[in-house]
Amino acid sequence: MERLIIEVPAELFSPAETAMREGVFDPGPFTCGPDEFVACAPFSYHVVLTNVGGAILVTGTVSGEARTSCARCLDDMTVPISGEVEGYFIIEGEGQAPEDMDEDEFDVLPESHEIDLETLLMAAILVDLPLVPLCDEDCKGICAQCGASLNEGACDCAAVVEEDDCVGKNNPFAALKDLSFD
Ligand SMILES: [Zn+2]
Ligand SMILES: [Zn+2]
Repeated sequence: MERLIIEVPAELFSPAETAMREGVFDPGPFTCGPDEFVACAPFSYHVVLTNVGGAILVTGTVSGEARTSCARCLDDMTVPISGEVEGYFIIEGEGQAPEDMDEDEFDVLPESHEIDLETLLMAAILVDLPLVPLCDEDCKGICAQCGASLNEGACDCAAVVEEDDCVGKNNPFAALKDLSFD
């Protein structure tokens, strides 16, 4: 798929001018840390480019839904995503690096006047993802022994373990309970 590029229109090189761009963007499958996500459908975006004097500021939103697996029970789940788009592109020869920004918070507008919107949208999406995706805050996860989803009720493992501990056949001390000291 072609990268999503927007060209800064000529009229935007006057201070206080703005331009709006909106459309859809398909992030496809993507990863964030150990988690894999797949977009349910193309995401929609809406951005505004503003000449803030010496620089082009890009702000807006990108939203959609992605599928992933619950970190506890591994069930499929859908995550709604609504990211804040933010970009700051210095116009060479006109603006300077803002003192209150770190170097990774701004770019220099390339000579082609093209902005890689895809990079900005992906960054906004990644920041909005949950640190640990959970199908439900109270998700009980899966049984470490049999792998059954505990959200659908308790499995039999807990009961079996208890029996073994006390009077199970495999317990070497099981016979002791029949001893009498008369
Ligand atoms: Zn879950
Ligand atoms: Zn179990």
